[in-house]
Amino acid sequence: MISAMRYLKNVVTLELDISRCTGCGKCEEVCPRAVLSLNDGKISISDRDACIECGACSRNCPFEAMTVAAGVGCAYAVIRGTLKGTAPDCACSDKYDCC
Ligand code: SF4
Ligand code: SF4
Repeated sequence: MISAMRYLKNVVTLELDISRCTGCGKCEEVCPRAVLSLNDGKISISDRDACIECGACSRNCPFEAMTVAAGVGCAYAVIRGTLKGTAPDCACSDKYDCC
């Protein structure tokens, strides 16, 4: 199941500037991985390592409170692995020594 998938810990570029957040909930609404939680009008990153850096939260935040380097690194590996039905695989070992 996709929501149970994890890759490397603490590598996600997702950042929340809570001082800009109005609690509108758009980011939670569009997140495909249930990474974000809205409670009492405040958003929080509740499951950071589930983020696939798709960028939907950042693109849909009207107040530029959410930022993420979309489409880079391990997100590609997770998507590629999902499409192939395998473990995350970015093929980076062909070029780099990162995983
Ligand atoms: S980048 Fe995508 S997966 Fe990550 S928190 Fe934002 S919407 Fe969710
Ligand atoms: S979309 Fe932006 S302003 Fe709205 S809850 Fe998310 S981070 Fe806050």
